[in-house]
Amino acid sequence: MKTNTQCRMCKSGRLSLFFDLGETALANSFLSKEALDKPEPKYPLKVYFCEDCGLSQLIHVVEPEVLFRNYVYFSSGMPVLPEHFRKYAEEAVSGYLRSKEELVVEIGSNDGLLLAAIKNLGARALGIDPAVNIAKVANERGVETLPEFFSEKMAEKVAKKYGNAKVMIGNNVVAHINDLHDLLKGAGKLLADDGVFIFEAPYFVDMFENFAFDSIYHEHLSYLSIRPLKNLFEQFGMEIFDVKIFPVQGNSARCYAGRAGKRRVRSSVGELIEKEKKMGLEKLSTHLELVRRLEEMKGKTVKLLTELKARGKKIAAYGSPARGNTLLNYYGIGADILDYATEELPSKIGLYTPGAHIPVIHVAEARKNPPDYFLLLAWNYKDAIFKKEEALVKAGVKFVLPVGIPGVL
Ligand SMILES: [Zn+2]
Repeated sequence: MKTNTQCRMCKSGRLSLFFDLGETALANSFLSKEALDKPEPKYPLKVYFCEDCGLSQLIHVVEPEVLFRNYVYFSSGMPVLPEHFRKYAEEAVSGYLRSKEELVVEIGSNDGLLLAAIKNLGARALGIDPAVNIAKVANERGVETLPEFFSEKMAEKVAKKYGNAKVMIGNNVVAHINDLHDLLKGAGKLLADDGVFIFEAPYFVDMFENFAFDSIYHEHLSYLSIRPLKNLFEQFGMEIFDVKIFPVQGNSARCYAGRAGKRRVRSSVGELIEKEKKMGLEKLSTHLELVRRLEEMKGKTVKLLTELKARGKKIAAYGSPARGNTLLNYYGIGADILDYATEELPSKIGLYTPGAHIPVIHVAEARKNPPDYFLLLAWNYKDAIFKKEEALVKAGVKFVLPVGIPGVL
């Protein structure tokens, strides 16, 4: 682990701690039964506010080799995403490519879901993803993918071998990268003169509007809002010319950037910066107030679960997403409250959640002998879950919402 002393966007040293989630296990490091007896690596999970550019960030950086070389998150396994990506592909191809010879490069391309859709539309596509296991899956589905971390050096190599990219895409990856100056230099090397860098990331505003604090874990080094991003791109002769907000896994911001002055800057950029200002995102006090609200949510949820447990109710977690581990750890909810957590991804079933050590079972198993209450760890998919579990709801199984206004639904 290394510890930054400067803001990763503006290089200011004026960083103020506002949210300390304690020593925490890695959110995606699910454990085998044998591993439960061994010491579990834990790292500080502390969020700092940059007093100069306003970026919220972790300064304790776990080695990317540890986090991303053998990744358990497969895009294709997630609900909602395929349709979102199909539309995304259409927009990237019809909006920014003029001929089929032009190249689209995606960094952190995962199992190639988006690039496969882009290829289907006839474009040239190249993926770059450090997760060797996942890059293999992408290559097998016919999406050429280099199993590497993106960097300025890598960008030079790719540009030399494949040509400059008309479109560079990065979904849920900018927040993962510690050296953002290297990323921007790389984008500068890889992109064609009129090329566009499109990236999508959870929008920090979501933390204030929907209390999505559980998106805080070691992989997410930056909590992105538009004002600090605008400043970052300007340092490298680039600019963000459009931003769209999408309700996918909470609110995501899709930003469009290019070389400065190449495209008309849309009103969305200024409007969102104005919104962030009105919300007080440039002030530390706003962040401290958020943490006070989170403490309240935590208190209410823990009280409810403890009471249910005292009344002899059986409680399990619905879903075992990475973010759920942040929630369990911060709320201090463990195996004394939860019997198990459900999952559909085969990669997690039979393992134990990091930190809280809750056994993970297939959701089909849970349906056969359901608990009295499910704690909604996958609360951001609440509506889809209710639809899918109609039979359980009819049978009287209750769901507990742990964020927003916590309570039984
Ligand atoms: Zn800064």
